[in-house]
Amino acid sequence: MFRYAFLLLALTAPVAAQEAPEPRPDRSVMDAAAQSALDDWASAYRGRALVQGVPRAVLDPVLDGLTLRPEVVAADRDRRAMQQPVWTYFDTAITEERIEAGRAAMARETRILEAIESRYGVEPQIIAAIWGIESDYGRDSALDDGLAVLASLAEGARRPAAFEAQLTAALKIVEAGDVEASDMSAAIDGTMGQTGLLPTTLIVHGVDFDGDGRRDVWDDSADALATTAAFLSSYGWVPGQPWGVEVTLPDGFDYGLARRAETQLPSEWAELGVTGTDDAPVDDFGPASILLPAGAEGAAFLIFPNFSVLERYDATDAWPLAVGLLSDGLTGGDALAADWPRDDRILTEQELTEMQRLLTQSGFDTFGIDGRVGP
Ligand code: CA
Repeated sequence: MFRYAFLLLALTAPVAAQEAPEPRPDRSVMDAAAQSALDDWASAYRGRALVQGVPRAVLDPVLDGLTLRPEVVAADRDRRAMQQPVWTYFDTAITEERIEAGRAAMARETRILEAIESRYGVEPQIIAAIWGIESDYGRDSALDDGLAVLASLAEGARRPAAFEAQLTAALKIVEAGDVEASDMSAAIDGTMGQTGLLPTTLIVHGVDFDGDGRRDVWDDSADALATTAAFLSSYGWVPGQPWGVEVTLPDGFDYGLARRAETQLPSEWAELGVTGTDDAPVDDFGPASILLPAGAEGAAFLIFPNFSVLERYDATDAWPLAVGLLSDGLTGGDALAADWPRDDRILTEQELTEMQRLLTQSGFDTFGIDGRVGP
């Protein structure tokens, strides 16, 4: 669903881990009714969590001290208001400072990153790029009280059951002794630790890489980076295959071919005039499709199966691309050859609805007229 939104600039950028949360509201001035609703939820959740095996010693201190986080719920309910063009997201996610800091972090952690690559087959620059985007290489001090974030989402978000499952998983991670509840930081969307994964994912893929007996993706960089590599490896990361390559499209290119289902080898794309920005055919790293993040204007990419693996990590439109571009920057890759169409703007919901109505009138199936861009 999300990937098609690229074509119309109707983008939802990820809720980045580094976005500073609002200051914690004073309990005394919070909306009493909302707090009361949270207390009711906590009371009901306590029973469900106990049934699922969360011990009281873990559960009670968390629920007893719970404070509502209205801004967390508001952000979840209003993702559309947070939409921004891809270039706006890249401007903040991939800065010169972040590239420099990333190179320094890679130099500092060379031994660990190489050990991780030899075990999981994921290149250091990919792991480092995710680390950089999710927590500014572990330096992000703006992360939030993760259990309060998850509880707020479980009480008031659009998909409460999903977040309740995440909260229960987080409490089981506390029970396992991997981290203290108070050290369990998260971004405003509930993703946790230095590389931004959800608790259910951490339970499955968490790695104790430094062997201290704790799978601590919060305080231990080696654990966080190895967990990220383990995750990508489990979804089929192909060593040596790029995430994607910027390409130039020929004049008269059939934009109907720029869709994920259309895959060809780069040498086959080259026969259609699709080449690297140096005019040479792209190497046959694997089956590739054409991605146009900003539509016909702006940069074009051939993307490979590894791009889909990154989407397993975070499917919000621009995130896999930001990781890919930052990883290229970390290894000295060139800046993009193409410019983004910075004068374009995101269509409003009303405009999207109008577009769907006109397309439908013209005989195209937009899968309903709902203001949401689908295939
Ligand atoms: Ca550890």
